[in-house]
Parts: sequence; structure tokens; C-alpha cells
Amino acid sequence: MHLRWKIGICLSFMTLELLGCYVPPVSKPVPAVKPSESTITPEKPQKKGASSIISQLDHYGVRDWRYIVIHHSASASGSAAKFDKYHREKRRWENGLGYHFVIGNGNGASDGKIEIGNRWINQIDGAHAGVREYNHYGIGICLVGNFNESYPTAAQMASLSALVDYLQHRCRIPSENVIMHRHCRETDCPGRKFPYYKLLANTYF
Ligand SMILES: [Zn+2]
Repeated sequence: MHLRWKIGICLSFMTLELLGCYVPPVSKPVPAVKPSESTITPEKPQKKGASSIISQLDHYGVRDWRYIVIHHSASASGSAAKFDKYHREKRRWENGLGYHFVIGNGNGASDGKIEIGNRWINQIDGAHAGVREYNHYGIGICLVGNFNESYPTAAQMASLSALVDYLQHRCRIPSENVIMHRHCRETDCPGRKFPYYKLLANTYF
């Protein structure tokens, strides 16, 4: 390179530096930009199916819930109505459906559909955990399916995630209290294939 050009380029950089607008190249990574309105990722589309049901939940008052307990039905098909009938007739539970919520898998109820049980509407104890404390303080959510044999559907997990997010916020339940049934007592519920840690990390997609 010609000497005069080199001097000229050096002088240009020096001038820019004096003006305060020259930033020397850096090799270290640029720090993450704090999210702003324009950089927030839009809500995942799979969650939108649950939003109309979840918006209904604002109509109901809540009492002192401390846990969210996740179950599977251990059956290939089912719905809130079907489990309600079973719990009333076979278990003889006068309040029927032992869970507060049921999430369908497409066999018996629509895939990802959240059904709200009477025990949630009336804010009464569940009959799902087999342990008094978790029945009293635990919100029982049952996903239809047998997750020892197969995985929950993507729509079920999206609805579950949206519902858990809502309930945690509404009832001030910390993430360590979002548990599987097998954390309460000896059982394999909600099945060996239930993606619990992915649910907590919100990375099951
Ligand atoms: Zn269970």
C-alpha cells in the first residue's frame, strides 16, 4: 500500500476516535440485548388453543393452593365426563371427578382440550394424590394417555404448559411445587415417558 494512503487512513481513524465515533473491532461476543417490545418472540402458536379456556378461569375465585400435581390417566382414551362417571359410580366419590383439570389426547376429548372439573369451579379438595396434604393443597391435572407406553401429544403439552403457567401465576405456586404424582407417593404416574424436565424448562417443542 502506498505510504501516503497508509498515513491518510491512520489520520482518518485518529480523527474518528477523537470525535468519539470510532469503535475498534472487538473479538469478544456482543452482550445480549435486553428484550424489548420489538424483540420478544411471539407466543408459540400451539399455546393459543388453550387460551380461550384459560381466560375463563379468571371468572373463578381461588383459595390457598400450594402444589400442582400432574397425572396421566393410564388409559388410551378418556375425558372429564368419562372419569367423572367412573369416580362417582366405581369409587363412590360424591364430588365425582377427582382431578381439577383433564387434558384430552384426541381419544374421547379433543387433542389438547382443557376440561375444567367441578372441583376447580367449586374450589374443593381433589381426590387424586392419595395423600391428604396433596389432595387438600394440590391442584390435580390429568393428561389422558398412558405415558409408560407413549408420549403425551404436542397439543397436550402446550395446553399443560399454558395451564401450569396460569395457575402458578394466579395461585403463586413456585416451580419446585409443580410435581408429578410419583413425587407424592409410590406410583409410576404420570408414566416413565412423561417429559417432566422439559415441561419445567419449557423445551418440549
Ligand atoms: Zn396419578
